[in-house]
Amino acid sequence: MIGLKGKNALITGATSGIGQAIAIRLAKEGCNIAINYRSYPEEAADTEEMALQKSCGNIENCGVKSLLVQGDVSQESDIVEMVNTVVKEFGSLDILVNNAGIQTESPSHEVTTADFDRVIAVNLRGAYLCARETIKHLLSVNRPGVIINISSIHEIIGRLLYISYSISKGGMENLTKTLALEYASLGIRVNAIGPGATITPMNQAWIDDPEKKAIVESHIPMGRAGSSEEMAAAVAFLASDEAAYITGQTLFVDGGLTLYADFRESWSA
Ligand code: NAD
Repeated sequence: MIGLKGKNALITGATSGIGQAIAIRLAKEGCNIAINYRSYPEEAADTEEMALQKSCGNIENCGVKSLLVQGDVSQESDIVEMVNTVVKEFGSLDILVNNAGIQTESPSHEVTTADFDRVIAVNLRGAYLCARETIKHLLSVNRPGVIINISSIHEIIGRLLYISYSISKGGMENLTKTLALEYASLGIRVNAIGPGATITPMNQAWIDDPEKKAIVESHIPMGRAGSSEEMAAAVAFLASDEAAYITGQTLFVDGGLTLYADFRESWSA
């Protein structure tokens, strides 16, 4: 895609699932990739190997640079250090993908404050702080840049038993819109994707159980869950110059889930 080759990208939570697929796809497009892991560098080794293999085949002489960068996105000091490290190693940072995310299940009236705070700290505050540090850098070097938030269909649809997750993704809509509005004139585009049900470790509870998977997929107009690669393709588009005039938007990549499958048949009187 136009405008990605040679760009420096940081992907948070890039050790599995959608984040891993995004790192691989951006490397394939010629981006240098900073692969964020939360605790141990081994977590990111698979992503790095696959990304370099997919982008050049020959890891020894790969034109694409990769960097493994530690950072728990719920910790402000980790984020500051992570962004500084990427800028120091790559020379600049052009693309931030806020992908790291967690969820906890509980009836809303039983959620502990600690659990609630943890989900918000990772999914929403972490995304904001990563964006803040990236924007500070971009403004200090007077360069354009792109921020992409990995939101969810639950940005616009409530999700029972996952109140903190729903709130975090609902908040992401205005994180995307406000930053987009504030920095549009300075050449910084901010967009989001809203994945529907996607085959990743986050959905382990149903992806290996044919019955549960069929129930999930019965609610999706296209009749199947999405893949991490399909999410990554949308991210690559939004990060590229093909999307040069797009900012402040959430692109739902959901097989039609936000069209509400119940409306496939007419049930009005
Ligand atoms: P996943 O569990 O495979 O990936 C989550 C990633 O976030 C992991 O790499 C994990 O290590 C990382 N992470 C968690 N806490 C972190 C922290 N404190 N600091 C740094 N990294 C941290 O799940 P996934 O499905 O790939 O989820 C990726 C994103 O996509 C999440 O934001 C999720 O909400 C969103 N999403 C997923 C789906 C889906 O159906 N899988 C649907 C909508 C949105």
